[in-house]
Amino acid sequence: MNETATCSLCLTPSGLPAHDRCRRRLSDALNELPDLYRALAAHLAPGRTGAASRRGSRTPPLPLRLDVLDLRAWGGIEGILTSWERDLCDRLGWATPPFRGTVEQQVDEAARLLRDNLDWIVGCHPAADDFASEIHAVVNQIKAVVTGETPERRLRLACTCGASLTITLSTPGRRCIRCGQQYGFQELRHLPLAARSAA
Ligand SMILES: [Zn+2]
Ligand SMILES: [Zn+2]
Repeated sequence: MNETATCSLCLTPSGLPAHDRCRRRLSDALNELPDLYRALAAHLAPGRTGAASRRGSRTPPLPLRLDVLDLRAWGGIEGILTSWERDLCDRLGWATPPFRGTVEQQVDEAARLLRDNLDWIVGCHPAADDFASEIHAVVNQIKAVVTGETPERRLRLACTCGASLTITLSTPGRRCIRCGQQYGFQELRHLPLAARSAA
């Protein structure tokens, strides 16, 4: 075991390719995504979910929530999962999985393939942290819709290069896009807040 190894998912020291808790959290997120996708269907109409059952009433139909439509459409949750799936298949020299038919089938199968190959992603994928961040971000977004909770508050921190990094309280780690500096969980929390005018 290499004591200085860094967790590929949160970029903090772990002594292992990844912390058990980070790996479990990612595996749980991939497990949950198909059900979360289905749960969104009840939240297409704005307001209370009961609105959907008042089909016989004379009130005009409410416009649908665009954020929920986007998540459920081709390229929404489906796009996130299938682009990582395609990336994984390319890296492993596998044929791209066949088109499955519906958005729901794409979400189910892509989430499963990614979860089944999580060991490889965690151990070998050069952007495993980006994968984890993207999966957790979309899961948080869906959960905010489904539970009605406000999404986690976002904080803008200033990187030493002057760029700003947007994180939430649960962001495990982040790489600055401008200067490439990697910050682990603790390091991120030592950065100052970005000035309001910073880009
Ligand atoms: Zn970790
Ligand atoms: Zn920077």
